Amino acid sequence: LPQAFPALCPFAPGPMHCHQVQRALRALTIPLERLHIMKGHMMQAMRRGLGRHTHSQATLKMLPTYICATPDGTEKGDFLVVELRQSHVRTLLVTLFGDGNLSPQMIHKTFDMPEDIMQGKGEALFDFIAQCVSQFLAESNSSLEHLPLGFVFPFSCRQTQLNKAELISWSKGFSCSDVEGKDVVQLLQSAINKQELSHVEVVALMNDTVGTMMTCSTEGRPCEVALVADKGSNCCFMAEAHLVETAEETSGRMCINTEWGRFGDDGILNDILTPYDECVDEESSSPGEKRFEKMVGSLYLGEITRHVLIALAAEKALFTGSSVAVLKEKDVLKTHQVLEIINVEEGVAVTKRALEALGLQPSEQDCSRVQQICRAVVSRAATLYATGLAAVLSYMCQTRDMDQLLVNVGVDGELYQGHTRFEEILQSVTKLLAPECVATLLPSTDGSGRGAAMVTAVAVRLEAQRREVAELLAPLRLTRDDLVQVQALMRQEMELGLGQETHANASVRMLPTYVCHTPDGTELGEFLALDLGGTNFRVLVVQVTEEGIRMASEIYAIPTAIMQGTGEALFDHIIDCIVDFQEKQDLMTHTLPLGFTFSFPCQQVGLDKALLLTWTKGFSASGCVGQDVVQLLREAAERKHHAGLKVVALVNDTVGTMMSCGYEDPKCEIGLIVGTGTNACYMEEMRNVGTVEGDEGRMCINMEWGAFGDNGCLDHIFTSFDRVVDDQTINPGKQRFEKLISGMYLGEIVRHILLAMSDKELLFHGNPSPKLYTKDIFKTKFLSTIELNGLALRQIRQILQDLELNASFEDSVLMREVCHTVSMRAAQLCAAGLAAVVEKMRENRGLDQLSVTVGVDGTLYKLHPNFSHCLEKTLRDLAPKCTVSFMPSEDGSGKGAALVAAVACRVTGP
Ligand code: ADP
Ligand code: MG
Repeated sequence: LPQAFPALCPFAPGPMHCHQVQRALRALTIPLERLHIMKGHMMQAMRRGLGRHTHSQATLKMLPTYICATPDGTEKGDFLVVELRQSHVRTLLVTLFGDGNLSPQMIHKTFDMPEDIMQGKGEALFDFIAQCVSQFLAESNSSLEHLPLGFVFPFSCRQTQLNKAELISWSKGFSCSDVEGKDVVQLLQSAINKQELSHVEVVALMNDTVGTMMTCSTEGRPCEVALVADKGSNCCFMAEAHLVETAEETSGRMCINTEWGRFGDDGILNDILTPYDECVDEESSSPGEKRFEKMVGSLYLGEITRHVLIALAAEKALFTGSSVAVLKEKDVLKTHQVLEIINVEEGVAVTKRALEALGLQPSEQDCSRVQQICRAVVSRAATLYATGLAAVLSYMCQTRDMDQLLVNVGVDGELYQGHTRFEEILQSVTKLLAPECVATLLPSTDGSGRGAAMVTAVAVRLEAQRREVAELLAPLRLTRDDLVQVQALMRQEMELGLGQETHANASVRMLPTYVCHTPDGTELGEFLALDLGGTNFRVLVVQVTEEGIRMASEIYAIPTAIMQGTGEALFDHIIDCIVDFQEKQDLMTHTLPLGFTFSFPCQQVGLDKALLLTWTKGFSASGCVGQDVVQLLREAAERKHHAGLKVVALVNDTVGTMMSCGYEDPKCEIGLIVGTGTNACYMEEMRNVGTVEGDEGRMCINMEWGAFGDNGCLDHIFTSFDRVVDDQTINPGKQRFEKLISGMYLGEIVRHILLAMSDKELLFHGNPSPKLYTKDIFKTKFLSTIELNGLALRQIRQILQDLELNASFEDSVLMREVCHTVSMRAAQLCAAGLAAVVEKMRENRGLDQLSVTVGVDGTLYKLHPNFSHCLEKTLRDLAPKCTVSFMPSEDGSGKGAALVAAVACRVTGP
């Protein structure tokens, strides 16, 4: 045993100990290494109890309580508690003032229960309880319109909601008929209604353990663990809800009633059980069960001690010369006597008195030996409690992904209250076994009364909050009908955009790209490519060979002065970069066909002729809008005397994406971008393209769908948050569809919702950090992190810290819900748009079933944890006659531009 821990070593070798006593004391002392192992077993048992497939065989039942939050001090109002106990019913009326629960006002009354009720009809029991409530309320002159009630029902229940629990089986002397298998909340509510007390609503049912936890939260540190060290032994704690596979709740936390008294029922404790424990177990009413509880519960400590004394007396190590027959009688030595004996420093006199009261004639030496034994029994219990507690704390710390856990632990029960030795050992051994956790043990008072009122109050607070949150988020939650309507509107705008007469007024511009073929895999050659308008400006050389595609590229900076200077300077700069690249790649002597990915809206009049409609993304070079971009590039080449440049095609990035995936998969006839912005293109029948001469074949249409809704057709789905975000952009009223979907805006939408929630005091206690008022501070990549399955807590904490947000755990759960709502809406809207596209393609081709691939690019699509899944799922639902696969593109703008050039060369001949 470590020297550092004398409490574990209740005996010091000395003349007063004979070897039999020493052996007994040693048997009752568990070495530290063994405690570590036991802690590991306890954690394992906890995991099994929570696991969907392991639960039914587990020794620790780990019962979900559906209590998902601890008090935050804002709870306010009147709450009724009814507690069913052995032989009586207690009623309480508790008033909370929203002042941190410092001084709740309480009145209560206890009603004796006639014996026949406990074994009578279930209906009679609940009628009796309801009558107690009725009488209590009448006497307390309560005249409230609505009174929430918490029901403390300390029996084993299968709980499925906070206010729904089927009794599994009676215990503690109860055996009322017609209750087992029924929902006891409903039984109580019906009985209460019969008393014409329908303003009393049973909102929560709970075990007595959870109340203990609820009474011990302090400022800034919630109490998330409770120990009951009483006749029985139990522990509950706040577990990560997603780990509670036996309940449906998946986000946030839930209080779990471990029912750890049964730990060891599978034999895992056998090597620390003593012969005394075996005797106690055999004499108990349930041999082989609740092995842990029988080592630590106050119902058993007196009994364990008694069996040690019997054994030592038989070995003549105690009470020599006097009769010990009295010790044979069960329960003659009470646990409170054991506690008295150890608690008094000069306890020999106390010991003597206690033993003499039993009719024994102890010598001085007997007394001091008995005292040592009592200490060993209580120390062992405290040590085992500490081991269990350490297991719970370490489990919490681990599953919360924390380096250190700071937590309050509420403790109740006769072993703890006022017994400093027990308390000290519990503290120090816990620290030794779970050094990463700082637990503050706090005595709880009246957990089952005041605590139950807290549970009820928290339930009422959360319910009100849930209602408000639901109301606030409702406009962002689109129904299937909404999406069907968006799909129809998109379809309508597509037709308008394609029509010769209607084109000018359509919000979806449906720009012809003059790309009429997707790759067929026979393309060959070497090409130059430019990529302007994405995150970087790049020059590339692309070799399309029979073995596949090889590329080399170089990134070039475009200084802001050039982005916003003259068009001439911009295109001169681009030529300089091309020359630099050709020199580096040793390509100066070649004249390679060049494909130009130019991701700005253009009115294309030929594959190599495109008028810039408007600059976006921070570009504003003068003299370009309305001009042919290819011509601007050619003129710059002339100015720079670069003769070897042959611009074959100008390509939008959606088209490049489609083409690059089309090279791998001939079914790829749609391109989709969900990055900073969003856009799509697809292969349309020439006969439907009213804006270009000719009816033969197909042409890729750059939809520019980001502008969908700019004519007001989507106004009904815009929320107040969307309008604020739009107002603060550089192009208010423009790109309205894009502003609901893409990376540049989702973070902003979330930020405005968070501010609105904070305003309603639903978040951050109504005090967001000043930082949260800064535009664009909430990045769209945060949505990905926050929504990641299983709460990547460490990263979330980092985000909250960076934003200087003082978010409680419940706050972060709510933030996650907000992020999820916003990103799901984005994915669903994107799906509605795509549904219109694939359905149109299917109809165009007169097919019952269309099978098509979408080439996709964009960081939001690629990195968000749920976006792509939700997009695909919604699309399947909205366009059931289309089988759509998604193919993430790799370097669509580089490869794609080269492929457009290659296809053009293939079709027209080089
Ligand atoms: P672009 O659209 O400019 O070509 P990207 O496709 O890389 O560029 O998209 C960049 C956008 O993706 C950023 O504006 C940002 O909003 C968003 N984004 C970046 N990282 C993530 C992420 N981890 N999860 C979701 N969105 C992200
Ligand atoms: Mg891009």
